[in-house]
Amino acid sequence: MGNDLLILGAGGVGSVVAHKCAEAAQKSHAFGQITLASRTLGKCQKVADSIQKRLGATISTAQVDADDLPAMIHLLEEIKPKLLINVALPYQDLNVMEACLACGVNYVDTANYEPPDTAHFEYKWQWAYRERFAEKGLCALLGAGFDPGVTNVFAAWVMKHELETVKVLDIIDCNAGDHGQPFATNFNPEINIREVTAKGRYWERGEWVETDPLSFAMNFNFPENIGPRKCYLMYHEELESLVMHLPGIVRARFWMTFSDNYLNHLRVLENVGLTRIDEVEYQGQKIVPLKFLAHLLPDPGSLGALTHGVTCIGNLMQGMANNKPKTVYIYNVCNHEACFKEVGSQAISYTTGVPAMVAGKMLAEGVWFKPGVWNLEQLDPDPFLADLAAYGLPWQYAQVH
Ligand code: NDP
Repeated sequence: MGNDLLILGAGGVGSVVAHKCAEAAQKSHAFGQITLASRTLGKCQKVADSIQKRLGATISTAQVDADDLPAMIHLLEEIKPKLLINVALPYQDLNVMEACLACGVNYVDTANYEPPDTAHFEYKWQWAYRERFAEKGLCALLGAGFDPGVTNVFAAWVMKHELETVKVLDIIDCNAGDHGQPFATNFNPEINIREVTAKGRYWERGEWVETDPLSFAMNFNFPENIGPRKCYLMYHEELESLVMHLPGIVRARFWMTFSDNYLNHLRVLENVGLTRIDEVEYQGQKIVPLKFLAHLLPDPGSLGALTHGVTCIGNLMQGMANNKPKTVYIYNVCNHEACFKEVGSQAISYTTGVPAMVAGKMLAEGVWFKPGVWNLEQLDPDPFLADLAAYGLPWQYAQVH
């Protein structure tokens, strides 16, 4: 079986994963034959053509609907990969994990399972697969994008090297880029709008505290000429695993920057009912307004050519070291235009796709291979962060106090 790889999903993130896996296959033989499969074959072919042009490498393509379990199993039986990197949508996670179990394939994803009819995500559905993956001697790595993903690994690195105990974790995600569009989302519009319009939630002294959507904000002074930006408190999936795996943590929060323009548009869309996820009857047809809206909005994959500026995502962590209070900030700054030049994508897809490739590489090379289902903070951060920097996402660390 070698280290053959199946990448599922040929969207903005899938394209980056495919380019970076092809690069890793050339540089380190981390992966054998690479196949990119998605619902629309034409999208896979476009990515394969770009990889051929940029890297001179050939990948295979396949069509599959991941909601169709027998079809997924059939594809895995045909390709017999060692590993599947799932960068389709969160709705498919459980089906894809089932198919991997049926065919003895290891699994990596970047977003936790979400039932289509409720804007609610949590790890319980995927954590329930722990025993079954362990029994089959297979490994599943959950949430291996940037946030979740690198932010989990950053937390593990800080706890391994810089802090003995941690009290406060603030994950702060800033997109200081501009695509010049009146309204567009940086990744799948449906998933993005479900996440942003959901209630906020943070961890405080042993319990979750809920807030109204985007009702709580702070200013944060970002490094590298980005400067102060308003950041809004949101719930984000990595908080759920991090509060379990960072013993003694008192407070954990997630923040994201949004422009006033984005928020104004979102408010209007919500007010007129276009962000609803329940079915409505329209001219004898049932439609989900958010799916219709997502269809009208720009494809995030098309924003690459238009986007300027940088992203900055990192962890601010307060705790104790050598019996003294210590605050550290660990982050990555990524330039949209540089990403576009390298792989034809904007930085949001790039910062998600590179870590997904690196997690796959860690698993395929055996460095992170452990039977069971894992979140990334449960694994050794050092080899992952070394490869992350080597494959395009260098990171910085500073002691704040
Ligand atoms: P896109 O919408 O651009 O791409 C999704 C791709 O999945 C499309 O090619 C789509 O095919 C394919 N797909 C959807 N449903 C199926 C299905 N049933 N069977 C097969 N293929 C399917 O999304 P993004 O690339 O922006 O995002 C991909 C994933 O990455 C999402 O799960 C998102 O939540 C996650 N993400 C994670 C981040 C992190 O930091 N952890 C950050 C950003 C995104 P088609 O084109 O035919 O619809």
